[in-house]
Amino acid sequence: MSADAAQGFFSLACEGVQGLHPYEPGKPISELEREYGIDNAVKLASNENPFGPAPGAVEAARRALDSLALYPDGNAFALKQALAARHGVEPAQVTVGNGSNDILELLARVFLQPGLNAVFSAHAFAVYPIVTQAVGATAKVAPANPPGHVSPYGHDLEAMAQAVDEKTRIVFIANPNNPTGTLLPAAELKAFVSGLPANVVVVIDEAYFEYVRQPDYPDTSRWLQEFPNLVVTRTFSKAYGLAGLRVGYGLACAEISELLNRVRQPFNVNAVAQAAALAALDDQHHIDDCVKKNNAGLAQLAAGFERAGLGYVPSVANFVLVDVGRPGVEVYQRLLPHGVIVRPVANYGLPGYLRVTVGSADENDKFLAALDAVLGDRG
Ligand SMILES: *Cc1c(COP(=O)(O)O)cnc(C)c1O
Repeated sequence: MSADAAQGFFSLACEGVQGLHPYEPGKPISELEREYGIDNAVKLASNENPFGPAPGAVEAARRALDSLALYPDGNAFALKQALAARHGVEPAQVTVGNGSNDILELLARVFLQPGLNAVFSAHAFAVYPIVTQAVGATAKVAPANPPGHVSPYGHDLEAMAQAVDEKTRIVFIANPNNPTGTLLPAAELKAFVSGLPANVVVVIDEAYFEYVRQPDYPDTSRWLQEFPNLVVTRTFSKAYGLAGLRVGYGLACAEISELLNRVRQPFNVNAVAQAAALAALDDQHHIDDCVKKNNAGLAQLAAGFERAGLGYVPSVANFVLVDVGRPGVEVYQRLLPHGVIVRPVANYGLPGYLRVTVGSADENDKFLAALDAVLGDRG
């Protein structure tokens, strides 16, 4: 029996798993460099922070290496205390996860099963369909805003409200949304949450929260008192620059948090991640500095796209969707030999676009020059 021949296990897998399309991560730099025999490649494909974490977070991670023989604090006491204080909630309302992705999965496992559904928007974060399908529940995908809208391809909350039925247990909302970079303003979002039935859990995924400084952008962690069915997720992977450590969290009423705690792994967040995240919270100056550079980078990319005559979706986050006017995957592939990794988004229903993470000024320049060469058929 050869190890790679099909052995018939597929038919034994749970139905939801049989229909699952695995998440496709951005191509790692090391893989590209190996394949093309190049160095100095830049990765603008996974919305990582090009400026890295706060120095204090790195220092704390190093110190945590002295205790690697011990299990981490399974209850993440210190980190939960700090997060609770920051958000004005009780520690019992905080769930720490192996990335916020972990929290999304715990929510699906607690609230979804075959026969039930989750509602989310077209062009929303790719993990929502995966966690829904993995537990055998049904994804109800609401149509997004049309291309000509002020928030092109962004969430259409009216369409989402219409998609909710008696079998809906979760509504996933990303604000801002990935991959569109579009924002839902406070008043509109609050009206939507208020209008949901009390037995529908609404998950507001704020993975890019720290980047957004628009005055009408809500901090929905402040709404938890008012809405017991609200869950807010945040992460240390994006603005905090700790994607490699995998740490994020969810905020909810104590009852939902207790349910999430039943299904999580006992030690789901490692000790190095807990230490680094706790220290990262202390350096708001670093975040502000990264946000300033990110805004300059967004302007740099927008100017480059305008020079090249390319349309793009104005973004409030650390990435931007650009309309390359041909299959995005082709442009993606032709950028690789230039040492530039971006993200084709056909899997998000946007085949003519690329999602580009805002890099450092040099990385953005390198990308724009490569894009110019590729689109001008000189590369
Ligand atoms: C990156 C991202 C996340 C999750 O990242 P983690 O690294 O698992 O915390 C969640 N939601 C959205 C919309 C994202 O873009």
